[in-house]
This record gives sequence, C-alpha cells and structure tokens, in this order.
Amino acid sequence: MIGVFGGTFDPVHFGHLRMALESAEALGAEAIHLVPCRRPPHRPPTVAGADDRLAMLRLAVDDVPGFVVDRRELERPGPSYMVDTLASLRAEFADRPIVLILGMDAFRGLDHWHDWQRLLELAHLLVLHRPGAVPPQAGILSDLLRRRRVAAPRGLAVAMAGLICVLPVTQLMISATAIRRQIAGGRSPRFLVPDAVLEHIERRGLYRTPYPDPAREAHDHA
Ligand code: ATP
Repeated sequence: MIGVFGGTFDPVHFGHLRMALESAEALGAEAIHLVPCRRPPHRPPTVAGADDRLAMLRLAVDDVPGFVVDRRELERPGPSYMVDTLASLRAEFADRPIVLILGMDAFRGLDHWHDWQRLLELAHLLVLHRPGAVPPQAGILSDLLRRRRVAAPRGLAVAMAGLICVLPVTQLMISATAIRRQIAGGRSPRFLVPDAVLEHIERRGLYRTPYPDPAREAHDHA
C-alpha cells in the first residue's frame, strides 16, 4: 500500500511525524508520500513560502526509511487539489492500494474538498484521531463512514480504493498554528518540532512577524 499524507507543513511538527509513522506501521505501507501543498484551496495562504516548507519537511524525514517527500503539488500550477494529486499517484501506482491519510479535523470538512466524491474512487481513507476532533455524528460524512468503514488498517489491502478506516494514534496536541503563535510571541517551539527544523526556522527568521495575513488570522480564530 502507498500512503499519502498532504498538508501545509507550515511548519512540519511532531504531530505530523507521529501520524505518518504510526500510519505506515499500521498499514504495513511500502511508502508514505508526504505532499506539501502549494496553494491550499480551502484556507488562507501559508505563512512560510514553499521552499522553506519543503526544506523543513526534508530536514524532518530525509533519513526515515519509506518516507518520500513528494513535490508534485509544488510543481503543479493553480490550487492544490488532492483529487489531482491522487489521480497522478494512481497513474504511477496502477496496481497498488493508495491510502489518503488525514486527521479527523480534516475528514470532517471532506465534503467541501474539490470533487470530493472522486477521492474515494482513487484511494482509501485512513482517518486519524486528533485531540479535540470527534467523528461526524450525522450527515453525509457520517453515512459514508458507516457504509465504507473497515475495522483494521490492513483490511484496506482487499481493494484499490473506496474504503475508510479510523485509526487511534498517539494524541499529540500540537498544531502548526500554535507553533507560529509561539514564535511570533518570542517563545520557543523546541521539543514540538525536530531540532533540524528549529534550526532552519531560526536561521531563516521564520514566523517572527505576528500574522501579517489578516485572512489567516480570521481562519485561526474560526
Ligand atoms: P495549521 O495549524 O496551520 O492548520 P496543522 O498543524 O493542522 O496546521 P496541516 O499541515 O494543516 O497541519 O495538517 C496536515 C494534516 O495533518 C491534516 O490532515 C491534519 O488533520 C493533520 N494533523 C496535523 N497535526 C496533527 C496532530 N497533532 N494530530 C493528528 N493529526 C494532525
């Protein structure tokens, strides 16, 4: 199985890294593609640029066996739609199950993603617990979960796409938003991000300006 983990990684933190590792182990995945998003379609622009976000991701995972930093969204013009990413991975891995890994908070907004119903034609979903995010209790995503759910991650291997598994993982209450706020407030994100990522943030002076983007500020408080 091929795992796909997309995000803004603004910056990458230990919440992401534990998620990716525990998913890889639970799936028995041959690779996990970490896909930094160029232009997030459902939220305001990122604070750090693509080059810095990519560099931090590389520093965090380059020596992790099976983790692949995948640049395809950065190389594609226009908004970074996950459905396009999965379609291009499907063309590459025609004969393997593909599993889109996402946090419960992201799953709860899935029906707002571009062409979202097609996501499940291209891949399975592995939905990971995240502190503060409970599964949808009613509506289209709750129905979907009931109809497509399999109990164990390895159960996804029976088909190429279309199933959903919910995986309890180590709950780390870390978010990139909180890390950016800490840095802007003069506090250290040490022990929330790998040391090499911290060094990059400090060397480049990232996230020191408190929220230059008012749209992002509004999103963070939503
Ligand atoms: P931000 O605070 O800027 O929204 P984030 O920390 O949520 O950032 P993203 O890059 O937006 O990170 O998230 C990518 C994916 O990682 C999403 O599917 C999200 O649900 C998941 N995720 C991020 N942090 C955690 C965490 N601590 N535990 C579980 N899932 C997480």
